[in-house]
Amino acid sequence: MTAFIMFDPLYFIILAPAMLLAGWAQMKVKGSFARASQIPASSRLSGAEAAYRILQAHGLQRVGIEPTRGMLGDHYDPQKKVLRLSPNVYSGRSLAAVGVAAHEAGHAIQDASGYAPLKLRNGIVPLASAGGNLSMIIFMIGFLLASTALGQGLLLAGVLLFSLTVLFQLINLPVEFDASRRARRVLVENGVIAAREDVEVGRVLNAAAMTYVAATIGAMLTLVYLLIRSGLLGGRRD
Ligand SMILES: [Zn+2]
Repeated sequence: MTAFIMFDPLYFIILAPAMLLAGWAQMKVKGSFARASQIPASSRLSGAEAAYRILQAHGLQRVGIEPTRGMLGDHYDPQKKVLRLSPNVYSGRSLAAVGVAAHEAGHAIQDASGYAPLKLRNGIVPLASAGGNLSMIIFMIGFLLASTALGQGLLLAGVLLFSLTVLFQLINLPVEFDASRRARRVLVENGVIAAREDVEVGRVLNAAAMTYVAATIGAMLTLVYLLIRSGLLGGRRD
């Protein structure tokens, strides 16, 4: 019997590419955000004002814009129909702030226009988050009981539950890329930024997109790891 997943060298060997990519993407996000934070948008709008202008232009007067307390976690809440922006983004008057704010407004536009991948993502969120938490516990119990039929069943159940996380990440990718594409278009269309300023906004949003790509690759490689350790892929354990 080998040690638990978190101390399993195989886990880190398999996950290494995703971890490196995630670290690199995080650095790119920090770097590009810091840089674009120094450059005011030519319209002099804050993130909140930019989001407001974009939402108005799309007839989304009902969508709220709220500041959050934390420095991270900018998001659009499709249930409450609210954009929540971190303090730097909410009141910042920079290309970084309006870029992130417009990305979140992009999700609100997706929601209003019935963009199918967003609907699919929202539908799978509760399943994926429950499945993601449960899958590892079930998998570990299965691993301890691997010599029994119950253990084999639990291993399979853990793998299947974790597949929901992978599915969520895969569906999330087009949603995020599309929101950024919309953001860059509406920023220029609504006069928040000039066309020449798009390069800097693009850097920030592309770096953010890389973190989602890294998360997706991480989830896929974790699934590969679980398949190997369960013996479902590549024959016997150890
Ligand atoms: Zn997003």
